[in-house]
Amino acid sequence: MKRTKIVDIFNPGLIGTEVSVMGWVRTRRGNKHVQFVALNDGSTIKNIQIVFEMEKFSDEELKLITTGSSIHVEGKLVESMGKGQSCEVQAEKLTVFGTADVETYPLQKKGHTLEFLREKAHLRPRTNTFGAVLRVRSALAFAIHKFFQERGFFYLNTPLITASDAEGAGAMFQVTTLDLNNPPRLEDGKVDFSADFFGKPASLTVSGQLEGELGATALGAIYTFGPTFRAENSNTPRHLSEFWMIEPEVAFYDIEDNMDLAEEFIKYCVQYALDNCKDDLEFLQQMYDKELIARLEEVVKSSFVRLTYTEGIDILKASGKKFEFPVDWGTDLQSEHERFLVEEHFKRPVILTDYPKDIKAFYMKQNEDGKTVRAMDVLFPQIGEIIGGSEREADYQKLLARIEELHIPMKDMWWYLDTRKYGTVPHAGFGLGFERLVLFVTGMTNIRDVIPFPRYPGNAEF
Ligand code: ATP
Ligand code: MN
Repeated sequence: MKRTKIVDIFNPGLIGTEVSVMGWVRTRRGNKHVQFVALNDGSTIKNIQIVFEMEKFSDEELKLITTGSSIHVEGKLVESMGKGQSCEVQAEKLTVFGTADVETYPLQKKGHTLEFLREKAHLRPRTNTFGAVLRVRSALAFAIHKFFQERGFFYLNTPLITASDAEGAGAMFQVTTLDLNNPPRLEDGKVDFSADFFGKPASLTVSGQLEGELGATALGAIYTFGPTFRAENSNTPRHLSEFWMIEPEVAFYDIEDNMDLAEEFIKYCVQYALDNCKDDLEFLQQMYDKELIARLEEVVKSSFVRLTYTEGIDILKASGKKFEFPVDWGTDLQSEHERFLVEEHFKRPVILTDYPKDIKAFYMKQNEDGKTVRAMDVLFPQIGEIIGGSEREADYQKLLARIEELHIPMKDMWWYLDTRKYGTVPHAGFGLGFERLVLFVTGMTNIRDVIPFPRYPGNAEF
């Protein structure tokens, strides 16, 4: 008999038919006449109840069905008399795929803390919480591709290994095949990287943007969606050492077009989750965050506030609020400042533009004032910065001057400058941190809980 996934079994048309279900046992309870098993196969947050009449099964057989064990059941799907479920399977045939020892199975009990589950990252996808988060994450990834593909953007794969460390977005992980205990050395004692795998030092990328610009100035509109790596020692609930980033880049776009795209994009993703992940979001709302669905609906309805960094600083200074980090024109905003603007002052998402050039990357378009650049950060409730982007400097001379001012080595940048040398065009783009979007949509509060296998300082176990 063909297997039915549990997500499909609640289809009323199946009542009265013989079904075959497979999954992992969540709980078993009952008495010597009848036993009830809650079975989950990962396809949905919902469990299907399996009813074992003890005249048909032996104690010996049922003893194997403990929390975490895996089974195959065939039987008739009937309407349920009990509370809490619409239907149940009356077991006729049982096969045990694998047992799970009651003494050692780590998820034996319900209600483990998220901290405990982080230590059990290899098994935590089997919990309700992580099942829900991972299904929402998958739906959001699909929504992202759908959004861009429907609008004629091309999916561009940018390299993960790079020999340029000019991006400046963060500290990098080095990639080498040299023997670290005995590397070849030059006469002055420095390591001889010409003997390394790529003939020069190489690292894992911190962003696909620079290569994304090469794609955009050829294909018109591209997006990347891939992993990025940052070796900063940031032990915060919003930073990972390995995270996924979506970076659209569009030729002939200015900063206004870029802001419109960012706003439409993020609302589309949130709406997609509301439309397609109802059961999981309701579960997460009930368990962790009573305001979750209302907040998501609010964001989709709201129009994002747009103001300049300078105006933002004025509001923060006038607020009279005591911040841990003081604010002054020229300093980078901390998440407490961003969240004040979003959660307390405007009570909706904010796009801040025109940041001081000294706290932003070299490639951003310089404003006439000589002090600011056409940057745009999208700030979100609960999260702070969720998107960072800009219109790019399209003028060859201005870009070159900035590169020299910042002492960025030209040997790393010649290929990038060629986009401005040959057929330069106005263009713009941004980067969305995928896990920050998943954080927002699931209402989880620690970024380590929205990626299956988090990497952070000191942690790369599984
Ligand atoms: P932050 O100021 O929060 O550290 P950033 O300004 O360094 O971020 P960008 O270089 O602008 O980040 O990267 C674009 C987006 O990638 C950010 O808006 C954020 O959503 C996400 N992001 C950046 N760093 C991390 C990280 N370490 N872990 C997870 N997401 C990140
Ligand atoms: Mn940023």
